[in-house]
Amino acid sequence: MSRTITPEQIIYLDNNATTCVDPVVLEAMLPYLSDFYGNPSSVYRFGSQVATALETAREQSAALINASPEEILFTSCGTESDNAAIASALRLDRDRPHVVISAVEHSAVIKQAEALARQGHPVTLVPVDSTGQLDLDELRKAVTDETAIVSIMWANNETGVLFPIREIAEIAHAEGALFHTDAVQVPGKLAIDVTELGVDFLSLSGHKLHCPKGVGVLYANKRRRFHPYLIGGGQEYGKRGGTENVASIVAFGKAAELAAASLDHEQTHVRPLRDQLESGILDRIPGTSINGDPENRLPNTTNIAFEGIEGEGLLILLDQKNICASAGSACTTGSLTPSHVLTAMGCSADRARSSLRFSLSRFNTTDEISTALDVIEASVAKLRSLRPEPSSPVAMAG
Ligand code: PLP
Repeated sequence: MSRTITPEQIIYLDNNATTCVDPVVLEAMLPYLSDFYGNPSSVYRFGSQVATALETAREQSAALINASPEEILFTSCGTESDNAAIASALRLDRDRPHVVISAVEHSAVIKQAEALARQGHPVTLVPVDSTGQLDLDELRKAVTDETAIVSIMWANNETGVLFPIREIAEIAHAEGALFHTDAVQVPGKLAIDVTELGVDFLSLSGHKLHCPKGVGVLYANKRRRFHPYLIGGGQEYGKRGGTENVASIVAFGKAAELAAASLDHEQTHVRPLRDQLESGILDRIPGTSINGDPENRLPNTTNIAFEGIEGEGLLILLDQKNICASAGSACTTGSLTPSHVLTAMGCSADRARSSLRFSLSRFNTTDEISTALDVIEASVAKLRSLRPEPSSPVAMAG
């Protein structure tokens, strides 16, 4: 067995995959794993004080997105929130069986859409252009009076590209369809105001905002009906049953508060670090270029193609130097499937396989980025020196 790696040893540049738990969040949740174990639904004080903690977390979460506390439903993860919003919409009106999503949604939405299509629901995937931007004309054509819900992410987890959510909500509403956005990658990076955005449903995930795994939020606009699809029961206003995951919900509330407070820091600390990493790679390593709209994207994310390199090979070399990042491909049954996001943008399979995503957080430092740059440069040089012969240039997207 390989030896355990501790957080002190690593340079963690994979914060769109998951994040470390903020020590302040951990401190807030621990009493609810030890002393305060009462059931929040119990009437005695030992239970009701836990209910009070839940309601505080609901208020903190609502404040993060400018919602009312009763519009916050705690779930088990972002995937559940995504699935619940779409499934609810389909149950409300049998004359609206159609679902519209983008071609670059997270698998949490894509896999559900595939399952719905197998059940006979018409599903439309709206394409993106070579910068990863959504084709709004195609979206307008896709949404009809049979569309139950349009579900389009706000920020892409692979490229960080941002979609114009308010405009998309208007397009959905013009045909009487509901609108859900998967905003899992957004908190702490951009301000979220559900009222200004005009969304009906919005999904969040705890482990993307320095909270533990196993808790999410579904914002459900109180002016819209919501139909529980899987987990019936009395909790969460009868919309999502199951005794609440109290400690994690308390953690989510605290993490939401910290995420709201760190928005300026994201611009003044994280964005410059991302830019330092990105420009360092582009300047120092020939044959590198950015995937996705370089302007309109999250401040913490960069997705870079390294011409002639297998991303998985580069990841292994980085791992040997304790650097964590993600590749533009996923290993499925022994073969490397190129990322559906990059291929939807028109990237060739080679380019997608040569791409790596680096995603930062408020816990990264300038020294880490300097070290990472040296390691990335040396690793790319090593992989290129091992190539039997110079490969032809990788095709550019679009
Ligand atoms: N949506 C997006 C955009 C994500 O990046 C992720 C996680 O990677 C999810 C949904 C799923 O969230 P969870 O892991 O909480 O189910």
